[in-house]
Amino acid sequence: MEVASMESVGVLMTNQMYPYLEDQLAKRFNLFRLWNYPSLSAFSKAHANSIRAIVGSTKMGADATMIDSLPNLEIVCTYSVGLDKIDLPKCKQRGIPVANTPDVLTDDVADLAIALALSVSRRICVSDSFVRNHSWQKSDFYLTSKFSGKTVGIVGLGRIGSAIAKRAAAFGCPVSYHSRSEKPDTGYKYYSNILDLASNSQILIVACALTQETHHIVNRQVIDALGPKGILINIGRGQHVDEAELVSALKEGRLAGAGLDVFENEPHVPEELFSLENVVLVPHIGSDTVETSNAMADLVIANLEAHFQNKPLLTPVT
Ligand code: NAP
Repeated sequence: MEVASMESVGVLMTNQMYPYLEDQLAKRFNLFRLWNYPSLSAFSKAHANSIRAIVGSTKMGADATMIDSLPNLEIVCTYSVGLDKIDLPKCKQRGIPVANTPDVLTDDVADLAIALALSVSRRICVSDSFVRNHSWQKSDFYLTSKFSGKTVGIVGLGRIGSAIAKRAAAFGCPVSYHSRSEKPDTGYKYYSNILDLASNSQILIVACALTQETHHIVNRQVIDALGPKGILINIGRGQHVDEAELVSALKEGRLAGAGLDVFENEPHVPEELFSLENVVLVPHIGSDTVETSNAMADLVIANLEAHFQNKPLLTPVT
């Protein structure tokens, strides 16, 4: 199929994403915006037969109901590397290929993990407020905790986990990890059990994929193994951590601090965290730089164009 003839291909965007992506999709395809309709069923009644591609995101992907309601669906692309919002078995059953945006966002997410670890250890946000609210004129800021040299444990030594490990190693931090499989060539210490990783880490960083097995992989036991001097960083998904347990551990001093980019019920964040100085909270911004967002959007478009030109996908999910 020629690029020009793609203008008639119906593509459904599930929610508002980066405007550049929306503009580029609208230029190339017959773009439908799900948020302009009162419900999926209202949309399907009017346009189900027109849709050949879905573009989803971390907010809304493609669940079984959506996939089942689109009889001519050929491909699902997600503006994310995480696949947790896509019903992969359903896609497989229908023979629908899936593409995501790996690699292009790895550096940004790894940078943010280290930024959070530094911000929690050195109390960057609290000390910034200290200057802004004129407290410095009354006293010096309190002493914080050193980051360089701390033992760092990484849950999920994939693309992002490996990039975090590289950065942590540059700070002189001994790195160990827990994944499904050992990566013998990395030189980092492997723990087959997350509890052992947490017991042997001062900073635990969650960077694994969200699946049924990793839901609440950080539970009360893991938090207690990390202990009252430990810091938890989560740049994976909110559902990796039992958030209620995390909140009580922080309030009760059973954990020294947390840096969180992701939450169980985004955009809602437990109010109890707002008053804690040992917590840094950011609104799921892991990959949200202009450079990376452009690269992710270009990759979504390139995958769609490849599919409709009968070429191999650039980043298929296998
Ligand atoms: P990746 O290369 O596929 O790595 C995923 C890692 O998860 C692998 O190391 C894998 O272990 C591990 N894993 C999977 N199931 C596991 C289990 N049951 N127990 C322990 N570890 C398990 O993916 P990536 O590109 O690094 O991305 C990782 C995740 O980061 C994404 O899935 C997404 O949820 C999150 N993310 C967040 C943001 C953000 O904005 N905060 C941005 C991008 C991505 P094996 O190697 O042993 O299979």
